[in-house]
Amino acid sequence: MGFVQGLRCKECGAEYEKIPTHVCELCFGPLEVAYDWDAIKKRVTRESIQAGPLTMWRYADLLPLDGAPTVGKQVGFTPLVKAERLGRALGLRNLYIKNDAVNHPTLSFKDRVVSVALSKAREFGYTTVACASTGNLANSVAAHAAEGALECFVFIPSDLEANKVLGNLIYGATVIKVDGVYDEVNRLCAEVGDKYGWAFANINLRPFYGDGSKSYGYEIAEQLGWKTPDHVIVPCAGGSLITKIPKAWYELEKLGFLDEPVTAKVWAAQAQGCNPIVSMIKSGAEVMRPQRPNTIAKSIAIGNPADGYYAADICRKSGGGADDCSDEECISGIQLLAQTEGIWTETAGGVTVAVAKKLAEQGKFGKDETVVIAITGNGLKTPEAIQNRVVAQASIAPNLAAFDQAYEERYKLPVYAEAASI
Ligand SMILES: *Cc1c(COP(=O)(O)O)cnc(C)c1O
Ligand SMILES: [Zn+2]
Repeated sequence: MGFVQGLRCKECGAEYEKIPTHVCELCFGPLEVAYDWDAIKKRVTRESIQAGPLTMWRYADLLPLDGAPTVGKQVGFTPLVKAERLGRALGLRNLYIKNDAVNHPTLSFKDRVVSVALSKAREFGYTTVACASTGNLANSVAAHAAEGALECFVFIPSDLEANKVLGNLIYGATVIKVDGVYDEVNRLCAEVGDKYGWAFANINLRPFYGDGSKSYGYEIAEQLGWKTPDHVIVPCAGGSLITKIPKAWYELEKLGFLDEPVTAKVWAAQAQGCNPIVSMIKSGAEVMRPQRPNTIAKSIAIGNPADGYYAADICRKSGGGADDCSDEECISGIQLLAQTEGIWTETAGGVTVAVAKKLAEQGKFGKDETVVIAITGNGLKTPEAIQNRVVAQASIAPNLAAFDQAYEERYKLPVYAEAASI
């Protein structure tokens, strides 16, 4: 640990000290963490990683902290599930789910970025942390702030799902509901950050925050036996995660940990009601057009994604692409994953599964190619999405005759029938 040299502008290469800032003063490009790769190479091996904890911190040397993490010590190393039944439904023999629906502690991939950002906030000496969020980020910041005894403010759009609001309050965070879409919340937070001098996980700490996502990519490669897949399908909000997964793989390649070069095709998934990245990729446009979101997939509803250009760029350069789905298809995606694999994901996962299904139907994947679907959040947080789609199977009196009758009737019930047909 402690291999961070400073920050570097992704556009012009200007170098900065290790400070809480995210924009280049010269060209307004985004800043990235710069690491001392020669020193890392001398110290880190596959074996040293495998001997590490069964958390994302087995990759601590490749993450941007100077010391040991002080919050989120149990985050990561979630299952990579071989999805046999979903694979059969999509006509794929080597389909995997990287399942961050069970990431600890707040059941989304955001715990990866927040454990880094808030440990970093403590290294910088902050006592108040905050974020602009579409839901999951706020939950994770609230939980890790509680763990780290930090004061916490989370700013969310006022129409978020009930459980995503509760999932802040339970940790004692101050919740500011903003009457606007995420992009308006984010603009407000930039001003609040300037005035109050707090650590905003995804604003002034964004370079550090973003690198927490690399752990998702490292883990996939390790769990595939130090290989990268042929395809990965990733839900996009701000477009950060989708850029960090391949970044992680190229780092492992550079360190000599992979047996074959990285050739993975990267595919972006968004909802039709908020698809600035997908639109840009599918239309071949050079500019991204911001949108006003209108979709049930609220966790990925960012109309003006900070990393949108880089997300589109990695999809194009990798030979992958993008697709989107309707809210109806998102709900079917949630049900399909639940009823084939026993994994209940939230709306972002419904979008990702629906898009993976579309791409499979379009023949984008070879039958034997390795395909990874990024499942990034948990269905318990968005029950609204499916509440009206499922019905009680049977409601009976406590006697055998009543059960006998319900048993006779069972195939007439819609949810059971749908499950049985897969
Ligand atoms: C935030 C989020 C994403 C996407 O994150 P970005 O890195 O901003 O693109 C995907 N899925 C879920 C569930 C999220 O909460
Ligand atoms: Zn610059």
